[in-house]
Amino acid sequence: MTEVVGFGLAGACVALQLQAHGKKVRVVDDGRGGSSAVAAGLVNPVAGPNFEPSWEVAEAWAVALPFYRELEKLTGQSFYHDVPILRLWRDEKDRAKFVRKQERLEPWIDQVTNEGVTWTGGGWMDTRSFLKVAKDVFLGRGGEWSRNTEGGTQIRCTGAAGLIAREFPEVEHRSAKGEILTVHVPGWHESRILNRSGWVIPIREDRYRVGATYEWDNLESGPTPEGREKIERLLGTFTARDFQVIDHQAGIRPIINRSKPVVKYHPEMGWMVNGLGSKGVIYAPRVGLEMVAREV
Ligand SMILES: Cc1cc2nc3c(=O)[nH]c(=O)nc-3n(C[C@H](O)[C@H](O)[C@H](O)COP(=O)(O)OP(=O)(O)OC[C@H]3O[C@@H](n4cnc5c(N)ncnc54)[C@H](O)[C@@H]3O)c2cc1C
Repeated sequence: MTEVVGFGLAGACVALQLQAHGKKVRVVDDGRGGSSAVAAGLVNPVAGPNFEPSWEVAEAWAVALPFYRELEKLTGQSFYHDVPILRLWRDEKDRAKFVRKQERLEPWIDQVTNEGVTWTGGGWMDTRSFLKVAKDVFLGRGGEWSRNTEGGTQIRCTGAAGLIAREFPEVEHRSAKGEILTVHVPGWHESRILNRSGWVIPIREDRYRVGATYEWDNLESGPTPEGREKIERLLGTFTARDFQVIDHQAGIRPIINRSKPVVKYHPEMGWMVNGLGSKGVIYAPRVGLEMVAREV
């Protein structure tokens, strides 16, 4: 029996991939929850200020998208949404930086206008719906579920909680707290994902998720008035419309090696799958497959 400890994006993908390859799997999750339930689920192939494609994004997404689509087909539930991403120019220098890199970015460019560049091949995943679907499929295929460990080979997918508790003491991390708002902006009708510094994701009927902050101290301080103010100001850079805040959440991104996932083995602790950083949706299915290849 293989025990997958933690059922966030990492644990869900590892558990489902092992199960699909004939392994008997028990999930152990103590129910504290992690950043997967907070994440905006953005899939942005060219995130960040420097127009650099995310690390191995094409390869990782070529595994992830079919994995998500297959689950959607199997269950009739839809949780991943293809949406164009408009990366707005910050200023003329920013635009010139893009032009210098444009050739390399061709696979993701839909159109370039005076407003910005629209990326194709991105979108967002409703991570909470995904976790629910993943749990139903896992249990439906005969997977076991427990709040306590009962023995067997362990794969620890405990996210930032595991890194902060130093489950694998030699693993250094730079996990980052993030706050995020869900807002209602009546009458805006923006259907694209907007990105400049920060982003706005349309989720339904003029409801949007906006974020996110990055903070490396006070990781466990939860949602704060300062965080909310920062994101409200950020929203003001995208629209001058009035808005209401519907929800305010905080989570901790598990960051080990920039946002590159890490798979590690320790003879006493077993396996660790962690470090999905701020791009768990892109990388989680591929680390699941990596655990299959390692024949855990
Ligand atoms: C504000 C914010 C916005 C983000 N936006 C995005 C985004 O737009 N796109 C994107 O791809 N990523 C985003 N992320 C990052 C994303 O959340 C992470 O990459 C990903 O969710 C990490 O998944 P995980 O499974 O490693 O960890 P977690 O989601 O933290 O899962 C860990 C699980 O382990 C369980 N657990 C922990 N310790 C134990 C224990 N000792 N015993 C039993 N169970 C345990 C917890 O209950 C939890 O279910 C965002 C993160 C934050 C904070």
